[in-house]
Amino acid sequence: MLYESDVIVLGAGAAGLFCAAQAASRGLSVQVLEHANKPGKKILMSGGGRCNFTNYYIEPSCYLSHNPHFCKSALSQYSQWDFIALVEQYGIAYHEKKLGQLFCDDKAKHIVAMLLDQCQQHGAVVRLEVPVTEVQHDGEHYQVQGGEHSYRASKLVVATGGPSIPTLGATGFGYQLAQQFGLRVYPHRAGLVPFTITDQLRSLCQALSGTSLAVNVECNDGYFDEDMLFTHRGLSGPAMLQISSYWQPGDAVRVNLLPGSDSAQELRQLQHERPRLSVRQWLAEKTTQRFAEQWLALQSVCDATTSLASLNGEQMDALAQQLHQWQVKPSGTEGYRTAEVALGGVDTDELSSKTLESKRQPGLYFIGEVVDVTGHLGGFNFQWAWSSAYACAQHL
Ligand SMILES: Cc1cc2nc3c(=O)[nH]c(=O)nc-3n(C[C@H](O)[C@H](O)[C@H](O)COP(=O)(O)OP(=O)(O)OC[C@H]3O[C@@H](n4cnc5c(N)ncnc54)[C@H](O)[C@@H]3O)c2cc1C
Repeated sequence: MLYESDVIVLGAGAAGLFCAAQAASRGLSVQVLEHANKPGKKILMSGGGRCNFTNYYIEPSCYLSHNPHFCKSALSQYSQWDFIALVEQYGIAYHEKKLGQLFCDDKAKHIVAMLLDQCQQHGAVVRLEVPVTEVQHDGEHYQVQGGEHSYRASKLVVATGGPSIPTLGATGFGYQLAQQFGLRVYPHRAGLVPFTITDQLRSLCQALSGTSLAVNVECNDGYFDEDMLFTHRGLSGPAMLQISSYWQPGDAVRVNLLPGSDSAQELRQLQHERPRLSVRQWLAEKTTQRFAEQWLALQSVCDATTSLASLNGEQMDALAQQLHQWQVKPSGTEGYRTAEVALGGVDTDELSSKTLESKRQPGLYFIGEVVDVTGHLGGFNFQWAWSSAYACAQHL
């Protein structure tokens, strides 16, 4: 059977559903083809099941791309305030968790229900369990093969996302499609992903598994003040997820374990005020008992039981340096199995920043995560999905 419409959207995720509803609201006939048995699976599991759907502080600087200016047009066409207004219109209760991150009070399923309701209201058809395997263009129409049926439209929107969490149905199909039509695609890799550690620090991570510390992390151009979590396999928590997007294999990550303090100066002062305090007691007061014991056992500056009174200046400086500039060299990341996003993707130079249409292949659009625009942790990726979807839908 052949199903015809004005627009075909590939992928019923965040970007695909929102684009379909917006395009349909403009009077276009739209069908969304999704190979999974449910729409919006990533939305459902996002934000620990509560979906961090946007952020009060959306800024272009919170996105990684080979062209940092590309995201500006879409983000200004449809902002966080627009999406917040839609959420409020549907009466979905939400709260700011921290750093402007907005989460549903209840379940993420309300966001999916809202998107599906928008599709239904405007007449966009969502077809599930359609495994799209092939796309052809005859000069006028895109013909999509999905299972035993065919679908035809003059406009094709690719919203198939990135390959993170393949068990949810994620694929790299959008990259293949871009290449098929001659668009350049940047190599992709896992982002917002925990680090694995295999060197001598592995036993420290295992011993401290479950411990969380407020730290400052730095790598290449990335710099974040957030929590770091020790895990059995290495390091995670928001600080490490954020910096993983800036990390390249072989790089060291610099961790300030005591941000906002000057340990060298503090040790000198305490040497007079509390001379009998041991180094371990001092560090435990600033972090945790378990961290102080395990971390001090790995360094060679002094014994953990050494009293502050018996530390010399050189030892105090060395200790402070190790705590403020702890160098960690991850062996890798947990990869797409647990990554929240894929970095890289369709080269933005191939697309119009205003419409998301391919410059070389008329009628072909790429939106959401498949494009080389990746947000920081905290609702930035969903906002890119909403904004790019909206911008595209206005110009179909
Ligand atoms: C565990 C987890 C938690 C996250 N939490 C957050 C969060 O709280 N806040 C935030 O901003 N971001 C979060 N993200 C990132 C966010 O989910 C993505 O950036 C966003 O979903 C991208 O939207 P998209 O529509 O481009 O792709 P997706 O939402 O991935 O949708 C793509 C759709 O295309 C379908 N598809 C793929 N290939 C085919 C094919 N060949 N044929 C048919 N259909 C196909 C997929 O099944 C999927 O339904 C999280 C990601 C993960 C993995």
